[in-house]
Amino acid sequence: MIELQGNCPLCGANDLIELEKVLVSDLDDKYKKYGVDSIFRIFAGHSNLLFSECKLCGLKFFNPMVTAPESVYEQLQAHDWYYFDEKAEFEFARRFIKEADRVLEVGAGKGAFAKLISTKHYTGLEFSKTAIEIGKRAGVNIFNQLIEDHAIEAKSAYDVVCFFQVLEHVGNVREFLESVTACLKTNGLMILSVPSADTFLQNKVNAVLNMPPHHVTWWTDACLSNLADILGFEVIDIQHEILADVHVNSYIETLLYSSLTSLMGQTKALIETSLFHKFKYLLSIIGAKFIAPSLRERYMRPLGHSVTFVYRKR
Ligand SMILES: [Zn+2]
Repeated sequence: MIELQGNCPLCGANDLIELEKVLVSDLDDKYKKYGVDSIFRIFAGHSNLLFSECKLCGLKFFNPMVTAPESVYEQLQAHDWYYFDEKAEFEFARRFIKEADRVLEVGAGKGAFAKLISTKHYTGLEFSKTAIEIGKRAGVNIFNQLIEDHAIEAKSAYDVVCFFQVLEHVGNVREFLESVTACLKTNGLMILSVPSADTFLQNKVNAVLNMPPHHVTWWTDACLSNLADILGFEVIDIQHEILADVHVNSYIETLLYSSLTSLMGQTKALIETSLFHKFKYLLSIIGAKFIAPSLRERYMRPLGHSVTFVYRKR
């Protein structure tokens, strides 16, 4: 375990450890498979990233925290799997929203969540021009503004601020979360969902979309609970998604791949390019085809991709 210099982007503590080193050239190779052009220039001379953990709050993050420019998102959005209109967490989150509530959503996309809730006072912030256009045509109040700028003009203006699958993309987490906090009334609710780092996702090899420049932070339940104390909230509810149909094969592949890694006496890694990788990957895919039917029943399913936390501002 290597101690690192620097401060945690969430709690500010100077108590970091290095979990693993990731080569930018490996990331570049894998991102190309998703149709993303050379990401080298984004990393401005860094040849590797340190996957780090804060010993105090438990945040895991990639150091330096280099985030993706609009062009990377445009290239990823070309895949139809990139945006789901139906996020599993929407059904859970909507239960906390009353008709009279003033609601702000950061990273509103095309306004899919707005259409599910009954409030007339909805504001969405979004960067994608295409998404804003589609949302506006459907009558949803969405515009392009940073939460940090919105917070200046909307202090204590909202009963609920929510953001689904957004926080893991954000580099300046502390500033982002403080801006959200400023927008909320006392006793207002912050509802967030992120990919859970307490699930199979942490063992998924070559999952570069869970790494920079796409995702820059990993969140466990422990860290999400610590976040409440850091920012002056209390946790009022937590929901883990049960493994979704679309992730069943990925889950079993990850399980089999990890088993093979351990059987062969190898060390688990975020990126694998070894000769053994193709062999392990192929066996995992074949194995998953046989095992997947046994996870058809929902009671057989483990925790899935996302976790949603609901917080109340003190
Ligand atoms: Zn920390």
